[in-house]
Amino acid sequence: MSSASLWRVAVDAPISEALTYSCEEPLQRGQLVNVPLGRRKVKGLVLGPATETPEFAIKSIDSIDTDYAPLPDSFVKWLEWLAQYYLHPIGQVVQSAFPPLRKAEKHRQSKRPPVIPQLEADTNLHLTDEQQKSFEDIAKHTGFSTHLIFGVTGSGKTEIYLRLLEEVLKRGQRGIVLVPEISLTPQLIHRFARRFGDKIAALHSQLTDRERTNQWWDIVEGRKSILIGARSALFCPVADLGLIIVDEEHEPSFKQDEKLKYNGRDAAVMMGKMLNCPVVLGSATPSLESWKNAQDGKYHLHTLRRRVANRALPDIEVIDLRHQKSDDDEKKKSIEKYSHLPFWLSPDLYERMGEVLERGDQAALFLNRRGVAQMVVCPACGHTRECPNCDISLTLHAHSHLICHYCDYHENFKTKCPDCKEAELEAIGLGTELLENDLTRLFPGKIIARADRDEIQNRADLEDLISRMETGEIDILVGTQMIAKGLDFPKLKLVGLVLADVGFNLPDFRATERSFQLITQMSGRSGRHVKEGESPGKVIIQTFNVEHESINFARNHDFEGFAKHELMARAQLNYPPAGRLVSFRIQGTHLGKVEETAGLLARRAFALKTQFPQQYGSIEVLGPAEAPLSKLRGQFRYHLLVKSAQLAAVNPFSRQLLGDQDWVPSGIKILIDIDPMSLL
Ligand code: ADP
Ligand code: ZN
Repeated sequence: MSSASLWRVAVDAPISEALTYSCEEPLQRGQLVNVPLGRRKVKGLVLGPATETPEFAIKSIDSIDTDYAPLPDSFVKWLEWLAQYYLHPIGQVVQSAFPPLRKAEKHRQSKRPPVIPQLEADTNLHLTDEQQKSFEDIAKHTGFSTHLIFGVTGSGKTEIYLRLLEEVLKRGQRGIVLVPEISLTPQLIHRFARRFGDKIAALHSQLTDRERTNQWWDIVEGRKSILIGARSALFCPVADLGLIIVDEEHEPSFKQDEKLKYNGRDAAVMMGKMLNCPVVLGSATPSLESWKNAQDGKYHLHTLRRRVANRALPDIEVIDLRHQKSDDDEKKKSIEKYSHLPFWLSPDLYERMGEVLERGDQAALFLNRRGVAQMVVCPACGHTRECPNCDISLTLHAHSHLICHYCDYHENFKTKCPDCKEAELEAIGLGTELLENDLTRLFPGKIIARADRDEIQNRADLEDLISRMETGEIDILVGTQMIAKGLDFPKLKLVGLVLADVGFNLPDFRATERSFQLITQMSGRSGRHVKEGESPGKVIIQTFNVEHESINFARNHDFEGFAKHELMARAQLNYPPAGRLVSFRIQGTHLGKVEETAGLLARRAFALKTQFPQQYGSIEVLGPAEAPLSKLRGQFRYHLLVKSAQLAAVNPFSRQLLGDQDWVPSGIKILIDIDPMSLL
């Protein structure tokens, strides 16, 4: 061979390892190159010199992509960690670190409004004692450390982020702020723009490729210092990074659910570690993962117990929807009086709505109807059925049997309630559209808006809705959880959760946590602007299960009590964060083949456990079972779950279980999800 040297290159292809290429010119780790792959030309990232000579004929690199400077070593290490941890081909991971288009010759003025508007600067608020303390405690740190700001809704977490970023800029460093895609509203961007003027760049899904590319270069070439974005903004190689903030860190949407199934929050913490900078996570309802890390002393905990300006937390009332039998004449009269109300609307909620609207304020009703299955409930006692092994709700199939979607437990559906033995269990179907129709009839002349995935399909729809809420044009807002987050409407004084039970009955071990989060976040929308002394915002929760722990703790604003209770429940069955979970989804168009492959995967899992009892003895294999979404876009779906309290065993086990996948029949795909957020 000539003077050419050999290099490991991560190529853009579904290959788990880097390939070896030769190059005549000097190269550097982190450099983007163009390489031949079969008959194709693909992009690749140079990972380092190759130490051994492969037995194949070595191809040489076509060219070096000189548009991009080599990525810093620590950033490449972070990319390698992602590939390794999430079991995803390294060459495909690294592609996310580059913008969608080539650099523009010169920035042309686009016809759209600018990504970041020019706004008048605001001034710093005087921090509350709690804010000041958290700020100081965090600002002390300049190297890697992870901080969890646990602050009730409206406690001024964002104000702390702004102050911390000011310190970062003073040091001549830069910062990244990650927020859930849905919270990346103009309201939020304006708040940062008012403080930091033209130092802000933003990356989110509503930008054109050209806008994304320009924002990327603005940050990379140092024209902007603070990058606000959804999870993928983390892949922008920001030089001199001094701080990463992850707001609403508990949000499931930080997890990407396709291709590289990474969790933006966890990836942010790992980036802080690799790049040696502080990471700040914030939430009113921290994920149990982060909460446990704080309890274990791995994260610094900063607590904000009060809303700013002594604003009161909303008053939460719980309404029991179970049929109340009564011989009492008073009650009978009242039942008659409200006989025109639909079954989902209690007299209390109806009356409160009337009062609020009378005063010219707004009401919002939430219905979390994300569930894929109809829920089964006893209208007399509120009983619902759970899997004896997995502690998750059973799902009704074909009106005849109940199934556990984790372990495949089956039982016959007995219509008589097994608990109170009085009533017949009912399957309830309810949706936001039905609510809207009923409300139109009940509140004639009032303006009702609906916010769900059918009505709000893009950012423009959402912004339109926000501005109509802000101006007070809308009287009643009806929506799914998509409106429960982050929004801030001064006139919103009443929030109703129509049927809390929909959340409890999702076939997911996080159902209780999600319900608690939803109730708390949703409550946080009510009465955000009431002044000291004014009556607080009101929240009404309707449910068949008044004693459910997520309701009990949420009504008392007791996150800590909830977390303690739920962590204990998780630990008993080794669910995260006590244990680690991995899901393997087997899918294909041929049901028989899918089932067969799922069975084969399970047998491989048990064989591995038998073969390596030392390493893998602690691993539990659940299933295979039909996934709750058993068929999607023509594909049948099964899954197999792997969990263990021995965190370190799970990754190598999963890697070995999949192997090189040459045993997987054609037409079948196995998708792996490490630390899954959703098991539908
Ligand atoms: P969170 O992010 O915790 O929900 P925000 O930072 O959005 O809270 O603060 C809620 C509201 O209180 C915002 O309108 C914000 O401008 C205001 N605010 C924040 N800190 C203060 C403060 N120290 N004094 C007065 N108002 C404040
Ligand atoms: Zn089960």
